[in-house]
Amino acid sequence: MSDRSAPPQPSEEPPVHRGPSRRALILGGTAVALGAGAVARREELARWWWRYSAMEEPRVEGEVDHPGAEWIPAARANLRRAGRPRDYPIDRVVIHMPEATYPITLRVFQDPSHGAATHYVLRAEDGHVAQLARELDVAYHAGNRAFNERSIGIEHEGWAHDPSTLTDAMYESSARLVAGICDRYGIPVDREHIVGHNEVPDVVRICPGPHWDWDRYLELVRREAA
Ligand SMILES: [Zn+2]
Repeated sequence: MSDRSAPPQPSEEPPVHRGPSRRALILGGTAVALGAGAVARREELARWWWRYSAMEEPRVEGEVDHPGAEWIPAARANLRRAGRPRDYPIDRVVIHMPEATYPITLRVFQDPSHGAATHYVLRAEDGHVAQLARELDVAYHAGNRAFNERSIGIEHEGWAHDPSTLTDAMYESSARLVAGICDRYGIPVDREHIVGHNEVPDVVRICPGPHWDWDRYLELVRREAA
C-alpha cells in the first residue's frame, strides 16, 4: 500500500519558482488571442494558474466524492492539497492491496509519519468504502509523483498472496466506485487507465497481486458505467 520505499520528498511540493513568470503568462495570453489551438493554450494557462496561485476550490469538511462513502480523513502529511482536475487532469485509477486489514490500513494512513495514503480504502466483508482524501487532492500512493498527480488510489483490504479477502461485495463496491470516478473525469474504462500499483512506471510492487481478477473487475466496472 505504501510509498515507504519512496517517501514523498520535499520535491513533492510544487517549486513555486518553476512556474511561469507573470510576464510569460501575459505573453501566453497574447498568444491565445492570436494563435491556432487557442482553446488548448487557454486550458494550459488555466492549469498553470490553478497549480501555482495557491487558489483552493471551496470545500466542505466531511464532504465525500463517492455517494455513501464514509469520511475518515488521512493525515494531512500524507497528501498534498490541490484543485484537481483544474490544476492536474485525472486520467488514471490505481488499484492497491495493502497487506493489512481494513482498520489497520486506516490507522496507518492517519499516521502523519507514514508518508502515504490512498483516496479510498475498501472493506472486504461488505465492500464498505472509506474516503480518506478528496479527489481534489494529490494523495501519495503510487510511489511516482506524476502518477500521484494524475490518479486516484484505492486500497482493497487484503494480502496479495491470499485470495480469501477478494469478496464479491468488495469487487462490486469497487467497480461502482471506479465507474463513478471514470464518469466524473471522462476516463475510459480500460486497462490503460485502470492499473495496478505494480504497473506504475518505475515502481517495484506486487500490489494488488496475482489473484486480483482484472477481467472480472473490468467487466463489473463496465456494467456499472453503462
Ligand atoms: Zn499499492
